[in-house]
Amino acid sequence: MADITPAELERWLRCTDDSQLAELWERADRVRRDTVGDEIHLRGLIELSNHCVRSCAYCGIAKEHTALTRYRMGADEVVECARQAQSFGYGTVVMQAGEDYGLTRELVAGLVAAVKRETGLAVTLSLGERPDDDLAAWKAAGADRYLMRFETSNRELYKRIHPDLGRRLSDRISQLQRMRALGYEIGSGVMVGIPGQTYADLVGDLLTFRELDLDMIGIGPYLPHPETPLGREAVAIFTDTPDQVPTGELMTYKMVALARLCCPQANIPATTALATINKKDGRELGLQRGGNIVMPNLTPIKYRALYQIYPSKACIDETGEQCNACLDGRIRSIGRLPGSGAGSALDRKLQTQGTNP
Ligand code: SAM
Repeated sequence: MADITPAELERWLRCTDDSQLAELWERADRVRRDTVGDEIHLRGLIELSNHCVRSCAYCGIAKEHTALTRYRMGADEVVECARQAQSFGYGTVVMQAGEDYGLTRELVAGLVAAVKRETGLAVTLSLGERPDDDLAAWKAAGADRYLMRFETSNRELYKRIHPDLGRRLSDRISQLQRMRALGYEIGSGVMVGIPGQTYADLVGDLLTFRELDLDMIGIGPYLPHPETPLGREAVAIFTDTPDQVPTGELMTYKMVALARLCCPQANIPATTALATINKKDGRELGLQRGGNIVMPNLTPIKYRALYQIYPSKACIDETGEQCNACLDGRIRSIGRLPGSGAGSALDRKLQTQGTNP
């Protein structure tokens, strides 16, 4: 299964036949069940700051969005969210933010240590392209995983939508490899339907997931934000090509299913962006087409509307309790159960190697 060819991947991405697609969903679901099981692991998401130094052309919290009120959560608030995660039985908290250097090396190390001390939960960081010394300090403080999407494997498209920061070149793929060498479990992923993105690019994304042997793969539709350059202009500029990948849920499900076939052991979430374009059952369909993770939002409600990386984001007016109850019901409605423990892909891979040398 893991050696599905590039030509097959592209054929599936272009497939429009419902009965053939049903076969793809069934295959992805079967591989998911056989490799990562029926448990759905919950990762409590804490959006700890919306400050950002970057100018990503797609993102609603990019620094150019000057009308946006900026916030940074206090340490007590973060620890309180982690305690809530623990009380809901989650195995992991994900601390995500814009690339915010107000979150200093010491401050983040202190947060990681406090969350580990108070809850013992696995900690995933998703704080952008920080220097290796920061990453090493956070690992030493107890962080387990780092999540950073490479967004697209097409280097030219990436450069266009994700400008370098001054003279510091953005090379997320080599940074992910360095994170792995530091001992992090690594998560990455892409947006689907970026203006200018082709089917060949998506095939490249899937092959890159496999090459990096990712532990976690987040795939969501690109959702245009009206306060961004890409959201305002790009549709007209970039979409005039027959190979342009459409954005939307179908292409995202295909990528989720194919990612499962390419990387059977990975943790693959049904993302919030998927739940945003199909509020009724986007999450459930993602979970039935290869996914095994959801990320309930624990961010205090007063901050949620300020972390709208794209418009109409799902769950922004729900409390942590409401998100938890809603997701629990959705998980059970498809005959699956909330997972226990940290749900580490790396541990799973090591176990498989141990039993099948
Ligand atoms: N600063 C960190 C980073 O860049 O990795 C984490 C925060 S960043 C806002 C998290 C993810 O949001 C990005 O990796 C990107 O894939 C996604 N995102 C941002 N804007 C988006 C949009 N308009 N549509 C869909 N996803 C978007």
